[in-house]
Amino acid sequence: MSKVLIIGAGGVGGVVTHKCAQATDIISGITLASRTKSKCDAIAAQIDYPIQTAQVNADNVPELVALIGQVKPKLVINVALPYQDLTIMDACLETGVDYLDTANYEPPDTAKFEYSWQWAYQERFKAAGLMALLGSGFDPGVTNVYTALAAKKYLDEVLEIDIIDANAGSHGQPFATNFNPEINIREVTATCRHWENNQWIESGALATKRSFDFPEGIGPMNIYRMYHEEMESLVKHIPSIKKAQFWMTFSDNYLKHLEVLQNVGMTRIDEVEYNGQKIVPLQFLKSVLPDPGSLGPLTKGKTCIGVIARGIKDGQRKQVYIYNICDHEECYKEVKSQAISYTTGVPAVVGALMMLTGKWHRPGVYNMEQFDPELFLEVLDPMGLPTVVVDGGEWPEL
Ligand code: NDP
Repeated sequence: MSKVLIIGAGGVGGVVTHKCAQATDIISGITLASRTKSKCDAIAAQIDYPIQTAQVNADNVPELVALIGQVKPKLVINVALPYQDLTIMDACLETGVDYLDTANYEPPDTAKFEYSWQWAYQERFKAAGLMALLGSGFDPGVTNVYTALAAKKYLDEVLEIDIIDANAGSHGQPFATNFNPEINIREVTATCRHWENNQWIESGALATKRSFDFPEGIGPMNIYRMYHEEMESLVKHIPSIKKAQFWMTFSDNYLKHLEVLQNVGMTRIDEVEYNGQKIVPLQFLKSVLPDPGSLGPLTKGKTCIGVIARGIKDGQRKQVYIYNICDHEECYKEVKSQAISYTTGVPAVVGALMMLTGKWHRPGVYNMEQFDPELFLEVLDPMGLPTVVVDGGEWPEL
């Protein structure tokens, strides 16, 4: 039995807290801490299980060390923002506690998505006998596990992957993002990169568009190519992959608003002078956009996130499509959140359970594809995210 400390009381933090409270056969105590304690208290009040709450500034290592010392968790689940990854890892090292997150570190002043900063902790975690599990959300996270499953079970050699993320739901708002607006807009406006012939190829942000016919009644939707962090670890750890692309659906309405916001400078992440004060336009924009947490009761429809892996099996070329379908309204009924936070928060808790039960535990810093995918998926399915495998179908090259 082990205690966990969850840091971050946003959309994902809410789901993680709900789901930890459903796993009390393994988790013996839950503390939820964030910058704003009232948000932790509001989440705790939704749950019929005692949740301790605390205030912490996770940019501050001594504050984190004091909180960890007081709570004495076995594991810290970081679902604050990517900016806090390194300070929380530092505090875990100082206090001798395991670490898990759902997004790679980003320096606040450049939208740069790479694992280098966190991979640099490898030797320190190993020497301390501690584990850090990186990117245990859906994408990154389950998409890494799906790719590992394709490599373990369905293909002798994975040559190409297309990770495809569809949100076929609608919240009825003119413009809103499904998770933290600042992080979301930094990601979608970044220069696109994909992996081809052992190198990264750059192209314009969302400049490459295809149509994809999604399963289970969702039907055809436009998908746009963009960079996503799991490709970096996947091509490192599964080196047979010659081509990796990431695609996401966006409505015409979302893209129209985004284009205008970019054109007028509202997505800038550098400081500008306003009324004698320095402000970052994107942070200001975040403060006037709908809070993703408020979209839960409004969002209807489904998400479909998965991986098409192409490669060789028994000497023949073969494809496998592995995906999950998740329903926004069902998620809201269960944990008061829409499916984007749900599909991130549930794998975070499954990753935590893998570490706490020792099924996935090795000292060092790891990405999800470095462990047995079947052990993870056995727990993910009953926790609310079932996996569908279409083995040997035909999908067009994207
Ligand atoms: P939100 O903005 O809803 O929540 C973030 C929370 O972190 C807020 O409660 C916020 O504080 C808290 N926080 C921010 N800065 C600090 C700080 N310095 N100290 C303490 N707490 C802080 O974000 P989401 O819940 O939507 O996303 C959480 C994480 O999940 C992000 O890192 C995001 O990138 C990741 N994510 C991963 C996905 C995946 O599939 N892998 C998909 C979607 C998201 P406050 O209490 O003041 O509100």
